[in-house]
Amino acid sequence: MAVSIAIVGRPNVGKSTLFNRLVGRKLAIVDDRPGVTRDRREGDAKLGSLHFKVIDTAGLEVADDASLAGRMRAQTEAAIAECDLILFMFDARAGVTPADEHFAEVARRSGKPVIAVANKTESRTGFQGAYEAYALGLGDPVPISAEHGEGMADLAEAIVAIA
Ligand code: GDP
Ligand code: MG
Repeated sequence: MAVSIAIVGRPNVGKSTLFNRLVGRKLAIVDDRPGVTRDRREGDAKLGSLHFKVIDTAGLEVADDASLAGRMRAQTEAAIAECDLILFMFDARAGVTPADEHFAEVARRSGKPVIAVANKTESRTGFQGAYEAYALGLGDPVPISAEHGEGMADLAEAIVAIA
């Protein structure tokens, strides 16, 4: 059975953009509005010579369970429960927000291996929240740009080191 990797994080950090890059097709909707990924999406990912199953998630957590946001939260939890490895993504330009801390905690609590991914670091832009990111307790974040395809080799290396 293929290794299964879930991309988890608050809305708008770039999860669907990475998902689309990994599967090589625009299966997931990328949108500036938070929470646009309504359904969980799975695809066959290729990253260098690595092949794995990847799961995109919506990343909303605050709502009662009957609502759309509640279903999104349940879907994130299901993805975390079923995967072998979690990519916890945050927006390096925005720094680490309380919502990021929440998702980092959910990921850590799962007991599964977690790789912190600092997105939106294209053109060697440094990131504001570097120290905050270390404070998440998820190790060295891997800087990437999902949109521009930067940092993919480092991401592959981090996955190989764990999976
Ligand atoms: P999701 O809600 O976490 O799935 O985020 P999306 O993938 O829908 O992306 C949210 C927004 O961030 C969109 O406007 C994307 O174009 C943008 N975005 C995604 N990746 C990057 C990146 O590497 N750099 C920059 N500057 N923007 C990005
Ligand atoms: Mg999305």
